[in-house]
Amino acid sequence: EAHKESHGFQTEAKQLLHLMIHSLYSNKEIFLRELVSNASDAADKLRFEALSKPELLAEDPELRIRIEFDREEGTVTITDNGIGMSRDEVIENLGTIARSGTAAFMQQLTGDQKKDAHLIGQFGVGFYSAFIVADKVDVFTRRAGLDTDQGVHWECHGEAEYSVENVEWPQRGTRVVLHLKDEAKEFADGWRLRSIIKKYSDHIAIPVEMLKEQAPAAEGEEKEGEDKQAPEFEAVNAAQALWTRPRSDIKSEEYKEFYKLISHDFDDPLTWSHNRVEGKLDYTSLLYIPARAPFDLYQRDAARGLKLYVQRTFIMDDAEQFLPLYLRFVKGVLDSNDLPLNVSREILQKDRNTDAIKSALTKRVLDMLDKLAKKDADQYQKFWDLFGNVMKEGPAEDFANKDKVAKLLRFSTTHTDEPKQDQSLEDYVGRMQDGQKAIYYVCADNFATAKSSPYLEVFRKKGIEVLLLTDQVDEWFVGHMHEFDGKPFQDVAKGALDLGEAETDEDKAEREKVEKESGALVERVKEVLEGRVEDVRATTRLVDSPACLVVSEQDMGPQMRRILEQAGQ
Ligand code: ADP
Ligand code: MG
Repeated sequence: EAHKESHGFQTEAKQLLHLMIHSLYSNKEIFLRELVSNASDAADKLRFEALSKPELLAEDPELRIRIEFDREEGTVTITDNGIGMSRDEVIENLGTIARSGTAAFMQQLTGDQKKDAHLIGQFGVGFYSAFIVADKVDVFTRRAGLDTDQGVHWECHGEAEYSVENVEWPQRGTRVVLHLKDEAKEFADGWRLRSIIKKYSDHIAIPVEMLKEQAPAAEGEEKEGEDKQAPEFEAVNAAQALWTRPRSDIKSEEYKEFYKLISHDFDDPLTWSHNRVEGKLDYTSLLYIPARAPFDLYQRDAARGLKLYVQRTFIMDDAEQFLPLYLRFVKGVLDSNDLPLNVSREILQKDRNTDAIKSALTKRVLDMLDKLAKKDADQYQKFWDLFGNVMKEGPAEDFANKDKVAKLLRFSTTHTDEPKQDQSLEDYVGRMQDGQKAIYYVCADNFATAKSSPYLEVFRKKGIEVLLLTDQVDEWFVGHMHEFDGKPFQDVAKGALDLGEAETDEDKAEREKVEKESGALVERVKEVLEGRVEDVRATTRLVDSPACLVVSEQDMGPQMRRILEQAGQ
């Protein structure tokens, strides 16, 4: 039965809809990118299902997207012959927002339209962008494999409700009809639509077609007759997947637009790396470093990973098996010729090629970052400010690349005494004093505390540089670093202070004198604090402060202790 039902939007969908309409008005044209990208996804999904059910494709095998407009009616129509949707799928996909990050996303909204527009972009609420330009949207769709009486008509006026009814629908796929608002009528225009398609959708791998421009009447008298019955369409976009083209043919503008297409980001990426690998492994990768951190960078269940293709056929989004967790900010595409077309997440986990590709891509990303650091310190600093904390997870997760990761790390140190993390370990080692054996660091909750730590007094006096570690992850990370360039990491607050050869004869005499003179005092303090401290020692490590607490070499530091406490240990 065709029964027409009205449904209310899920609250969050409603809120998003409202935001969409009110915060993206300065970037209206992206609606077309989003709808074309959905149509392209629908084609990918159909091709994928047709691998096991070729009959789905048979009746109409040339996948394509068509954009039409009607200036009088004020409509723009996007039609694809992809997978389509059943009635249930329409309700599920267009009436709810089934993403785990939605709540977190809503909390991040600031009310500042510019910032929120960026968030919406990242979040990729694609379909709803139709309501930036339309006050009414009709969707007609039929799922591949279902009968023509299983078509569905979804209709919504961009407010609290939408309706669905079954309709007879002859062709497979989806048609989205946008009834443009008065202030968006400019989009019912061939030239305008073509230029938007070129700009955003050039690298959609299937043709995005528009009606051929009508030849001027004077030239085309004989033509007129033949054109009348069958309107002719032509592709407006390049219709070739970007990564399959040779690097030398691709302009940076094209790389940037492709990034925006796959990432939903509004901004350009910081850098990218495009590589064709042949030989033992055979694949193409195109990897990007974003210039913005996603709001869910620290959420365990956040989507991450690459878009996976096998022999140019789309297989899945968010294939997370090809990069380690500490490189989860990387976006891009992997197109493999080694993996089977029927590959699933489970198969991926067991396939030997997965690990080989993962290790190659990891090196690729680390090299790309190394290059960026050498070529453009400002851009690298931008990267570090966004993702430095995540990179510090590297030494623990990826022992094999520990040294490569270590070279990419940046720190705040007593050399600059600034909170900005911009000193590398190589910088530090280059400034080490003669005879200095260790890389010294102090851990604290914040920069002010670290900088004024009494443990630093003796180091400042001797001109020995100390890393100022104030991020939660720091203690965890030095614990796994152990050493850099043969120099061990040494917490200035832990154990006996051994400045190595840096202790001169003079220092030694001073130390022995202090120890002797304080003998009685130390004994007395030990008695008073008995049971509360392990040991009391005289020290030369303090210059201005009378005393400090030190944890023993084996103990965990205060940050680590806090992390475990928070975790309920
Ligand atoms: P996303 O594309 O990121 O999943 P969208 O809001 O753009 O989010 O689309 C929501 C869902 O609606 C899609 O995941 C898809 O299931 C469905 N959908 C949208 N457009 C189409 C289409 N042209 N053909 C088939 N399904 C579609
Ligand atoms: Mg989409």
